[in-house]
Amino acid sequence: MNLKKKITAALTAAALSVSLTFGAPVASADAGTIIGVGSVLIGASQKNAALNKQIRYYDESEQGRLELYDAFKQKYGVSENGAYKAQLDRVIANLTNGVAAVDPTIKEKPYIYFVSAQSSINAACSMGHVMMVNEGTFKNITNEDEIAAIVGHEMGHGQRSHVAKGNKKALQKYVIASLAGTAVGGGELTSIIAGVAFNHSVAHGSRKYETEADLLGFDYMVNTNYNPGACAAVMQKFVELEGKSKRSSLEKIFLPSDHPDSDKRRDAYVKKLFEYSGKHVTAKDGIVTVNNKILMKVAASDTMSSAERSYFVLGNLAAAYHHGQSKEAATVQNGTVMLGNQPIITPLAGDEDAYTIAERLNSIK
Ligand SMILES: [Zn+2]
Repeated sequence: MNLKKKITAALTAAALSVSLTFGAPVASADAGTIIGVGSVLIGASQKNAALNKQIRYYDESEQGRLELYDAFKQKYGVSENGAYKAQLDRVIANLTNGVAAVDPTIKEKPYIYFVSAQSSINAACSMGHVMMVNEGTFKNITNEDEIAAIVGHEMGHGQRSHVAKGNKKALQKYVIASLAGTAVGGGELTSIIAGVAFNHSVAHGSRKYETEADLLGFDYMVNTNYNPGACAAVMQKFVELEGKSKRSSLEKIFLPSDHPDSDKRRDAYVKKLFEYSGKHVTAKDGIVTVNNKILMKVAASDTMSSAERSYFVLGNLAAAYHHGQSKEAATVQNGTVMLGNQPIITPLAGDEDAYTIAERLNSIK
């Protein structure tokens, strides 16, 4: 039931309650059946208390979050693709360790998640660390580091309880204000809250929360073996998909209209990578620079544009600088340019050869 219908139903129930409650005292069992158990006049503070209790139930209790998990599976369907499920298991396990490095509370409330049967590129995190990633995400994004960047963003929402916080505000606004001055039975109020909580139960929506989730996702990624450049790379992919008018395939939950634009989010990640590298490395339009000198123009691959792929080179270089590997020499090992023990790039057709890149890196690093 949508919010409007919920409220309409509630108001209808409220009207019934009011008329009966203000009539003769309920004396018979029949009358009790008609008005429903617990149908009483309650004030704003009691509505608030009921609302907070319901949100806590979904967000904090094991029973509540499992209920939400089942409701999500019911609503969005569960993918039957075993490979996608195995990949999500791996991504969540890796990121859980990445989160734990900066926020150990994740150990007390591990994520419960599934691959949904939805075909759009999307992911969502609800209350209670309930998460889903759409089948369409795996189908369209074949690079696991980029999937991890998306899941890391979701975990940012989860760790900061964005949905519970956002719901509290939304529910207070819609339920409390809409029903101000009317009476709603305790049970009815609970069911309205449950309905609204579910419908408002996916993250994404406020710019403040989106920016926070993006930054947290980066902090989690750098504590995994994933390439931190994937955060910028996946935003570049979104920019390109949007540019090709394929926005419809990017469902609005991940890209709501009041959301910071993908290019701005990408640029924010590039800035994070620059800082992570100790202000040594950046990339723009496919060109990677080290200490303000051009290292290379990165070629496109079969699955990535030049710009998207350049952020992986940037991520590797940033990691090398961050971990002190930039003090070591750049070398070529089995066709891959290395900086110390950190792989930087395996040149493809269209790139310069590995030895040329390594030599230039040694001269400017
Ligand atoms: Zn988000």
